[in-house]
Amino acid sequence: MKLPPRLPAKLLIGGEFVAGAGADETILNPATGEAICVIPEASSEQVDAAVAAAEEAFPAWARTTPAERSALLLGLANRIEKEAEAIASLESLNCGKPYASALADEVPAIVDCFRFFAGAARCLPGMAAGEYLPGYTSMIRRDPVGVVGSIAPWNYPLMMAAWKLAPALAAGNTAVLKPSEQTPLTTLFLAELVADLFPKGVLNIVTGRGETVGAPLVEHPRVGMVSLTGDVATGQKVLQAASRAMKRTHLELGGKAPVIVFDDADLEAVIEGIRTFGYFNAGQDCTAACRVYAGPKIHDRLVADLADAVSTLKFGAPEDEGVEIGPLISERQRSRVASFVERALSHGHMEAVTGGSAAEGPGFFYRPTVIAGALQKDEIVQREVFGPVVSVTRFSEVDEAVAWANDSEYGLASSVWTKDVGRAMAAAAQLQYGCTWINTHFMLCNEMPHGGMKSSGYGKDMSLYALEDYTVVRHVMAKW
Ligand code: NAD
Repeated sequence: MKLPPRLPAKLLIGGEFVAGAGADETILNPATGEAICVIPEASSEQVDAAVAAAEEAFPAWARTTPAERSALLLGLANRIEKEAEAIASLESLNCGKPYASALADEVPAIVDCFRFFAGAARCLPGMAAGEYLPGYTSMIRRDPVGVVGSIAPWNYPLMMAAWKLAPALAAGNTAVLKPSEQTPLTTLFLAELVADLFPKGVLNIVTGRGETVGAPLVEHPRVGMVSLTGDVATGQKVLQAASRAMKRTHLELGGKAPVIVFDDADLEAVIEGIRTFGYFNAGQDCTAACRVYAGPKIHDRLVADLADAVSTLKFGAPEDEGVEIGPLISERQRSRVASFVERALSHGHMEAVTGGSAAEGPGFFYRPTVIAGALQKDEIVQREVFGPVVSVTRFSEVDEAVAWANDSEYGLASSVWTKDVGRAMAAAAQLQYGCTWINTHFMLCNEMPHGGMKSSGYGKDMSLYALEDYTVVRHVMAKW
């Protein structure tokens, strides 16, 4: 690990670094439970100042050419790439992520996100201009919305910031970004990377809690659009507040991804896939492969082999060699996960075939767990656990598996595992999820959209669809 010489702690408002003037927030290292530092959050005056700076910067930024914005986004991508080790170290320290994975999996995806939107800014597609009424020429414009208030969660702090900022800035908006109060370090480091790159006020960063900093940002009359990645309950609060001013919202909320394994699936690939994609980031992932439906013939072997495979997952300190899984983000999150498992096991028809308890010692570790015997109505099948816990449910008919997969308030991600292409395509067509993977899970790329249906929210991250989300479609018509 290679931490920067000093931990970033200052907010970025109108191009200036300022200390938060609000209440102190203690930032914890989840791998040890110890405090890393104390960062005072933004005061309400500082939230106002950040919005005012973004508003002042907007007209000039909106008039820059796509090529100019693209050059700055590429510049930022290069700076992030250069600081890859410092960023991976900070993310690892603050979230407990295995350092090697933060460096190899997350930082390159963040860099690529800024590079993708640097390119996309220059080729936004649209309908052809033309004479749709005789003697009148119509054309479509896609203009930026204005000031975007962006609110990020704790599970992938800098990646979620990138997913929000890159399309918003590429489209010509200015932004005020608030990271999760639990994981502000990489976002504050980002502030140091952008401060002398972008014009003052184009990007402002404030830290703090949802109630004290997030809510005032959402409700601020000069914020034209709110983008949130977080819990469904937070999405509902944001939506209610935004509705009062008819604000545009972009919501990416929770998930409970079904994994349908048909009898003809390649069992080895399934086991390797669930072992990886069910437990990545300690299962704190809205697309985690956490709700397995197994066909009648493959079910028993799947349970046995999955238990064996998951029991070999190495969890531990983020910097240790070969560590695959870190801790949960907080003691509160660990107790939440533990209580889901305790309630599941108390019913009697479910069994933890591996894991099922918190790990001893310091830090918020929970053992990678497989719960077998789960039924469709069980809480562990219905609700998002957001931890290293995968449930397995046996199905008997294809239609039953698809119906159970769709019987969920969530609609973010799903996967289907089979060697029969026709069956895979038929299931994919019926699944009510923003994404369906076939014979894989969790794989994302910046060219393709990521986003949900139902309570998982709406609005797409990554891809040209995200760029569209951060613009307003306008019609301009000229009479000859
Ligand atoms: P959270 O909803 O508790 O917090 C998310 C952010 O919202 C934080 O910055 C928080 O401070 C802020 N916030 C909380 N209350 C607010 C309010 N009233 N007004 C404005 N802001 C407020 O979520 P979390 O616990 O940080 O993250 C976990 C959740 O995020 C999970 O449900 C997960 O599924 C979801 N998530 C979804 C995606 C996706 O792409 N769909 C990606 C990552 C995480």
